[in-house]
Amino acid sequence: MSETSPKLRAELEGIPTYKPGKPAAAGGPVAYKLSSNENPYPPLPGVMESVAAAASAFNRYPDMACTALTNELAERFGVPVSHVATGTGSVGVAQQLLQSTSGPGDEVVYAWRSFEAYPIITRISGATPVQVPLTPGDVHDLDAMADAITDRTRLVFVCNPNNPTGTVVRRAELERFLDRVPRDVLVVLDEAYREFIRDREVPDGVALYRDRPNVCVLRTFSKAYGLAGLRVGFAIAHEPVAAALRKTAVPFGVSQLAQDAAVASLRAEDELIGRVGSLVCERNRVVDALRSQGWTVPETHANFVWLRLGERTVAFAEACQQAGVVVRPFPGEGVRVTIGETEANDIFIKTAEAFRREV
Ligand SMILES: *Cc1c(COP(=O)(O)O)cnc(C)c1O
Repeated sequence: MSETSPKLRAELEGIPTYKPGKPAAAGGPVAYKLSSNENPYPPLPGVMESVAAAASAFNRYPDMACTALTNELAERFGVPVSHVATGTGSVGVAQQLLQSTSGPGDEVVYAWRSFEAYPIITRISGATPVQVPLTPGDVHDLDAMADAITDRTRLVFVCNPNNPTGTVVRRAELERFLDRVPRDVLVVLDEAYREFIRDREVPDGVALYRDRPNVCVLRTFSKAYGLAGLRVGFAIAHEPVAAALRKTAVPFGVSQLAQDAAVASLRAEDELIGRVGSLVCERNRVVDALRSQGWTVPETHANFVWLRLGERTVAFAEACQQAGVVVRPFPGEGVRVTIGETEANDIFIKTAEAFRREV
């Protein structure tokens, strides 16, 4: 437009800004936010205490190397400290992986629909997104993804379970896929919802990465551990990938509050995993209720459910909002609904039932 405006990179044109889940409406009688896959439980008292203690020193920079957290994670997963890299949420780490591997002329392969951040961070890097449609059952089509790899491909995301469908790929098919990927292409297993999986055939990415130098596992404290607002996630990867992550990290990106809360959360794991168990029970209750109403619900292994509503997506999201729960619509495709507080899940179930009777 104006000739005097600063020159910005052409790649930024047309990149959508990341859309956060809508907040719960303020002022209404009841309003629950089921739009961002957050953990509905408040922070544990012990975790709060560690954050409060860290807050008394926030005039200081944090430990840039996240030493205590990195050591704790390395021990917990039985991996070398040099294989652990932390970042500002796992999205922050994913962006560092792109910075480390991909630029203009390179290609990044991922399933679609999948996590909304992938196209955004891929395009920011300047690389070209290659989106491979999910199967009709809303699952990653790993054969088609392997076929989509060219000599320009630098990175492949596998979101397991997939956001927003909740579906998974299992051990045999994932191993077969990894065997097909060239050794110089990085495969990122995004396991943001790992703790919600109850199917033993879904492999643990940390087991898969061990003898595969081109596999990197992404995990986060935002979902099961309930630290979404503190921004801390991590990768487990071989050298030199992990070393590249340390180079591309924003200096002091992970605050001391986040580091201390993450360490305290790992130590309070039994309690936190108990909460995850309750959410999994709620998930099963919600899925059973929806299916008994006649809905087709893909099997979900995460803390959300996916309803493929097509043209009725926006109308459904509006009905939910009216009833007091905010969900996440993907217009023309479907809605993703986070498993939240029991009362919120009840409102969602009731609304789904009424909506089904209307149409
Ligand atoms: C929520 C989510 C993340 C985690 O994001 P943070 O940046 O760690 O909060 C990563 N990947 C997927 C697929 C997600 O849904």
